[in-house]
Amino acid sequence: MSLNVDIAIVGAGPTGLCLAKSLADSGLSILLIERASEASLSNPAFDGRQIALSHDSARLMQELSLWEHINPHDISQLRNARVFNGSSLLSLDIDHRFINQNELGYLVANHLIRKAAYDVATASKSIQLKTEAQIASIITGTHDVKVTLTSGEVIQTKLLVGADSRFSETRRAMGIAADMHDFGKTMMVCEIEHDLAHQHTAWEWFDYGQTLALLPMNGLKSSVVITLPPREISSLICMPEADFNHEISERFKHRLGAMRLASTRHAYPLVTVFAKRLINQRFALVGDAAVGMHPVTAHGFNFGLKGITTLSAEIKAAQVAGKDIADYSLLLRYEKAHRRHTKPLFLATHAIAKLYNNYGMPARLLRIGAIQLASRITPFRHAIAGLIA
Ligand SMILES: Cc1cc2nc3c(=O)[nH]c(=O)nc-3n(C[C@H](O)[C@H](O)[C@H](O)COP(=O)(O)OP(=O)(O)OC[C@H]3O[C@@H](n4cnc5c(N)ncnc54)[C@H](O)[C@@H]3O)c2cc1C
Repeated sequence: MSLNVDIAIVGAGPTGLCLAKSLADSGLSILLIERASEASLSNPAFDGRQIALSHDSARLMQELSLWEHINPHDISQLRNARVFNGSSLLSLDIDHRFINQNELGYLVANHLIRKAAYDVATASKSIQLKTEAQIASIITGTHDVKVTLTSGEVIQTKLLVGADSRFSETRRAMGIAADMHDFGKTMMVCEIEHDLAHQHTAWEWFDYGQTLALLPMNGLKSSVVITLPPREISSLICMPEADFNHEISERFKHRLGAMRLASTRHAYPLVTVFAKRLINQRFALVGDAAVGMHPVTAHGFNFGLKGITTLSAEIKAAQVAGKDIADYSLLLRYEKAHRRHTKPLFLATHAIAKLYNNYGMPARLLRIGAIQLASRITPFRHAIAGLIA
């Protein structure tokens, strides 16, 4: 059996689905190839992640009709952010007023974004979805790409897009290398109820031996992110609930009173990725497959949305002009723009993560100095607010 489409996207995660939706009205036929089951896409399970969304991302999600598929009660305001170092009470405070907005951004659970993206993409007639599909081979030619699935089905397409996670097999199959960094740490995420109000302020706390983050949800509830060596995370995940509640309240030094587990606990290995090339002949990488960020600056999905805005604008312009939608110069423009948007923050995030994971004396002094200096320089705090938002 064979199928002919204009664009085939490997991976129906949030980025792949949003790219498909952004091209839905362009007159192009789109196929999403996903290895997971239809049931796991149509009703994604809670995965612990609360995604901090910038104003630009929220705007794009409105344009793509995702926003209206998310219950307003499930959207939490991110008004301010505070960064702490060690046991010091001095913090770097980022205020929403720096950017003349009511908030720095919003928080929405990842599984709700995935559900909204699935609902809007599958409602479109120009988008087809093939689930439980595995790619056996990819052959790129001058005029098209031939993708053969393990079922034997052949898909012929003008443009192939890899949106299949930071461990992208499509990226490898297309011969694109990537800079990967394994921090040797694991992040545990879960929801927590607490006694004191968070005032819709996010915390990033670079302690010695652990990194803690707290993302404010509606009510007396937060999403907690703890970064530790994998063995310590395993023990936290297996810990009986009462012990866990005690442990977590201690780790947060009771700053929000007593804390209680309010969801399942989830672990993610801390591995970042930056693909050496974002394109190849009739091929482009998007989302985490292109740039897999360190979650500390909460930009992974925001960058994914930025990338698809750039790529889909190029594709739509070519389509309107009757030109090849996978022309190499078009793909090159996407690569350049997306690299420019992402590389500086990717490198800065790495530098911050490395500094705040270093407990030696020179780094300790530098860490204290950096927070003291940054908290006093107002333009610097304004710049950070602009980056978050
Ligand atoms: C703890 C944590 C917190 C985060 N917080 C934030 C935040 O606050 N803000 C933010 O912007 N980002 C955040 N992120 C990042 C964000 O979650 C990711 O950037 C986003 O999920 C990436 O979406 P994606 O569609 O590119 O990839 P994924 O979500 O990984 O989806 C990839 C899809 O491809 C499919 N797939 C994989 N391989 C294949 C294959 N070979 N064939 C077919 N299908 C395949 C998968 O099944 C999946 O459906 C966070 C990440 C983590 C881990």
